[in-house]
Amino acid sequence: MKEDLKNPHPGLETVVQGLAQASEHASCLVKGPLDPCILVIMGASGDLTTRKLVPALFNLFMNKGLPKPFLVAGCGRTPLDDPAFREHIGAGRDFGDPRAWTEFAAAFHYVQVDYDSEASIRSLADRLAELDARHHTGGNRIFYLATPPSLYQTLADLLGRVGLGAQGRGGRPFTRIVIEKPFSHDLETAVQLNRILARGFEESQIFRIDHYVAKETVQNILVFRFANAIFEPIWDRRFIDYVSITAAETLGVEHRAGYYEQAGVLRDMFQNHMLQLLAMCAMEPPARFEPDRVRDEKVKAFRSLRPFPADRLDDHLVLGQYGSGKMNDRPVQAYREEPGVDPGSIVPTFAMMRVFIDNWRWQGVPFYLTSGKRLPGKLTQIAIRFKRVPHSMFRHVLTETVPANVLTLGIQPEETIRLTFQTKNPGAEVCLRTVRLEFDYLKDYDGPVLDAYEKALLDCMQGDQMLFWRQDGVEACWSFIMPVIEACEQCQDPGRRLRVYPAGTWGPPGAETLLPDTALWRT
Ligand code: NDP
Repeated sequence: MKEDLKNPHPGLETVVQGLAQASEHASCLVKGPLDPCILVIMGASGDLTTRKLVPALFNLFMNKGLPKPFLVAGCGRTPLDDPAFREHIGAGRDFGDPRAWTEFAAAFHYVQVDYDSEASIRSLADRLAELDARHHTGGNRIFYLATPPSLYQTLADLLGRVGLGAQGRGGRPFTRIVIEKPFSHDLETAVQLNRILARGFEESQIFRIDHYVAKETVQNILVFRFANAIFEPIWDRRFIDYVSITAAETLGVEHRAGYYEQAGVLRDMFQNHMLQLLAMCAMEPPARFEPDRVRDEKVKAFRSLRPFPADRLDDHLVLGQYGSGKMNDRPVQAYREEPGVDPGSIVPTFAMMRVFIDNWRWQGVPFYLTSGKRLPGKLTQIAIRFKRVPHSMFRHVLTETVPANVLTLGIQPEETIRLTFQTKNPGAEVCLRTVRLEFDYLKDYDGPVLDAYEKALLDCMQGDQMLFWRQDGVEACWSFIMPVIEACEQCQDPGRRLRVYPAGTWGPPGAETLLPDTALWRT
C-alpha cells in the first residue's frame, strides 16, 4: 500500500503557473502595519516557549512580520534576569544569523512572578506599564498562557482580578489572552474556565489556540471548497460515499506522560484537532469569510454531530494502545514501559471512530476519524471517497469493478491535493488503471511560508480570531466527546475495549472492520 504513495504517473501532475509576484507574497503575510505590543508569556521558561514560540517569533522577525516596537515579557517562578532569560531562550540553538539574533533577543525581558500571589501579579502590571512607557508599545498586550493547563483558571482569574484584562474603548489599546491546548479536561472544567475567562475578558479578547487549524493546508480546505465552483455541487451525500480523516504519528508519548496519562488520544486529538478537521470538511459556506461567520458555521457542524451511541460503542469505535515493536528497524518500548506511565495503564494511544452528521447535506455519510501514536508513518490527511459509477458499462470487459474516485487533501507532511481517476491503458484491449492528478501546495511558490505557530501569533497580533476556538465551539465538542469518554472510562471493565498493537503497525486489527477501505488511512 505504501508503494501507492509515490506518484507512478508524474506526467499527470498539474502544471501550476507561478503567477504570484514577490510583492503579492509579501502582502499575504500581514494585512497591514501591526500595532506595537508586548507579548506576555506566562510559563516562559518552559518547553513550548523555547521550542515553538521563540523560533516562530524569530522567523516572523526575519520576515519583517513583527510590529515595531515589539517586546516579550517572559514570566515564571524561576529567578532569572533579562540577560539570563535571553541566554535561556537561545541556548543550544543556531538561529543562523548571530547579529539578527542579538537584535531580536534584545526585545525579551523577564519578570519573576508568583502565581499564588495577587501582589506579584500587581507588580507584573507595574512592570508592564514601565516597559510600555519606556518602549512606546502603546499599552497593547497579549497574555499567552504557556504554563501547565492546571494553572489556566488561576491565571485567568488573577489577570482579571487585577484589571489586566481591561482594554481601551473599541480595543484601542488592545488586551488579548491566548490559551494553549488542552482547553480543560472535560465539559465541566471547560465551562468553568470559560466562565472565569469571561469575568476578566470579553470573548473577542480570547484566543483559544489550535495549532492544527493554523496549518496552511488546513486553511486551504475552505479556499479549495469555496473558491472553486466545481467541487461544492458534488460535496454531499449524493456523491460522497464516506470521508476518512487521519492524523497518524510515529512518535510515542515522549516526555509528556504526565499529561497524556490524564488525557489519552480522545482528549488529546479528537475533542480538538480531529473535530476541527471534520468541521472544515463538513461545514456550510458562510456568506462572508469573516471570523465569526466561519466559526458560526463550524459550531453548526459540531451541533449536527449525531450523539455517539454509547450503548453500541464497539460498532463505532476502536481503541488501541501501542505495545513494544519496531520503528525504522529500531526496537521501541511499549506505552506501559514509557517513563512516567502506569505499568497497568489503560489509556488509549489509538482511536478510530465512525461519526455521522445529521443534516441535509451529510445524512448517512460516515466520517471515519483515526488518530494514533507509534504508527508506521507521520501523516495527516482527509480522504473523500466518492461513490462508484452508478452503472459500469465496462462490466463485460473488466474483471474488477471500477474503483471510486478519491480526493485526498494532504495536511502534513505531504502538502498536496490529489484526485484519483480511471483512465485507459494504451493498447487494443480495454484495460483501466487508476491515475492521479496532483497539486503540491508549495510548488512554484517562492514567498515566505508561515508555520502554524507563526500564523497563530501573527493572527493574535492582528486580532483575527478566525482560526481560534470560540467558547460555544469548545463546549459543543466537549459535549459530543464526553459521553464517549465516559462510556469508555466508567464501564465495568474499562480495559476490555483496549487492543494492544505493536508499535510500528497501523493500529489494532479491529480497525480494519470499521473502515470500508483501510487504504484510505494507511496511505
Ligand atoms: P512546561 O511543563 O514546560 O511548563 C511551562 C512552565 O510553567 C515551566 O517552565 C514552569 O516555569 C511553569 N510550571 C511548570 N509546572 C508548574 C506548576 N506546577 N506550577 C506553576 N508553574 C509551573 O510546559 P510546556 O512549555 O511544554 O507547555 C505549556 C503549555 O502549552 C501546556 O499547557 C501544554 O499543554 C501546551 N502545549 C505545549 C506544547 C509543547 O510542544 N510543549 C504543544 C502544544 C501545547 P517556572 O517554574 O519558571 O514558573
